[in-house]
Amino acid sequence: MTLMERTKKYVKQSLKIPEEYEILFVSSATECWEIIAQSLTQSVSQHFYNGAFGEKWAFYTELAGKKISRHPFDINSSLPVSDLDTQAEWLCLTQNETSNGSMIPMDHLKELNNAKEEGQLIAVDATSSMAGIYLDFALADIWFASVQKCFGLPSGMGILICSPATIKKAQDINEQKHYNSFLRILENHQKNQTHHTPNILDIYLLYRTSKISKGIEHIQEKVLQRYQNWTSIVDQFDTFDWLVKNEEVRSRTVMTLQCENPKLVKEKARENSITLGNGYGEWKENTIRIANFPAIKGKEIDKLVKFLKKTFD
Ligand SMILES: *Cc1c(COP(=O)(O)O)cnc(C)c1O
Repeated sequence: MTLMERTKKYVKQSLKIPEEYEILFVSSATECWEIIAQSLTQSVSQHFYNGAFGEKWAFYTELAGKKISRHPFDINSSLPVSDLDTQAEWLCLTQNETSNGSMIPMDHLKELNNAKEEGQLIAVDATSSMAGIYLDFALADIWFASVQKCFGLPSGMGILICSPATIKKAQDINEQKHYNSFLRILENHQKNQTHHTPNILDIYLLYRTSKISKGIEHIQEKVLQRYQNWTSIVDQFDTFDWLVKNEEVRSRTVMTLQCENPKLVKEKARENSITLGNGYGEWKENTIRIANFPAIKGKEIDKLVKFLKKTFD
């Protein structure tokens, strides 16, 4: 219980989460999709997406028996705020779409937050950006992530962050039918307890890393600097180009590069003891993905850049 209390305190400090928000530890980001559907949605949620993770979220919500309003948009477009469905209880977005390396910048989220009707809530999947870039938590009611991406920790835990309005909504709905019903998780966490035996190793590592963290602004500076370096490197190559051409909505933490023959690129990388990330879903055959996560070391990036220059320049 002491560990839990301290971990929540340091995570709040390092990520700049508003004091009145709650932090809950669950099993994964995927579980968060289900918790929102089963415990926090009465009838309908609207899903804005342009990639595989956002679409999966919509799929699981429907599977949980809720109505959804699907809103796909292009990977180079801004969030289509004017298409907001005023009937939806939740407006669901994937802040950083890991499958294609696009993102929703904070000022677009702010526009949505300004445009929504009273009583509508915003839920954000920030799995591959939380703890990597600054997120303005006050702009949404639920944020979630799992720890194996920008947190740089072993997989097997999800973090759900929620506003007082989310808690109020949960109490109004009062869904209690599942081991992971939102209110059951919340009531345990408010006593620094958990609804099942948690991933104590991950909680401990999160405690240690957030305690010594210099804060999200410091981390973001490093991530953005590395992203800028990558931008000038990609510019030098004819073999590679960004999948997302509109830089405003291009991810800073998941770099998705278009190339003609990703299979060959990955093979050559493997010969040099480098494992490059596959493209995902519909971009599997024409992209590779490179993580720009804080835990990656400078010398690892140097090695990769050296290999790319040697092989493709
Ligand atoms: C990785 C990822 C998930 C799934 O995370 P799990 O830990 O496997 O549940 C969900 N959404 C996004 C955007 C992701 O990048």
